[in-house]
Amino acid sequence: MARQIYLDSYGDAGVIVSLRLVNELAPSAERHRDIVASILAFDPSSLAAFRRQQIPGFVSLSMRLRGVIHHLLEEDLEAAAGVLNEMLAEHPAHPHLAKEDGRWRLHHHPADAQLVPMYVSICAEALARMIGEGLVDRFGRCEAKGCDILFFDTSKNGTRRFCSTTCQSRTKTAVFRQRQRASGRS
Ligand SMILES: [Zn+2]
Repeated sequence: MARQIYLDSYGDAGVIVSLRLVNELAPSAERHRDIVASILAFDPSSLAAFRRQQIPGFVSLSMRLRGVIHHLLEEDLEAAAGVLNEMLAEHPAHPHLAKEDGRWRLHHHPADAQLVPMYVSICAEALARMIGEGLVDRFGRCEAKGCDILFFDTSKNGTRRFCSTTCQSRTKTAVFRQRQRASGRS
């Protein structure tokens, strides 16, 4: 059944953070500090707690998540679940109520939790939830040539093929040119 999937709760932010870590924070990437800061910017208290010493922890989290998402793309749920269970056992969630601006909010962890373990837990739980909800086929890899960006398809019919409209139109143009060449025109 076709349905629109919304990633708007704090837990689902874990899916977005996971994908951004995998896509943007490769060990070979430059300016790791800026990348992590831009990923954490959605949560001001995380951003405030971010220190340079935590960068290797985020890079290693990115590598682990990359492994999990590759297992998901290969439909090897056993392998993905194995890694996620390891991560969840190492750093379990620690739900915590905190009063902010006069309103109670349920957080995944207390505000003073260590940042990297907290994100290991947030990301692992978010991906685990996608498996539990039968949404594994919503993970995809961009089909544009030379682009291997991973995404989570929230569209209604779940037929997304590209990471962006840029990759989509680049591919369409390439296919169009190829057809023109094949039909003998230039
Ligand atoms: Zn792409």
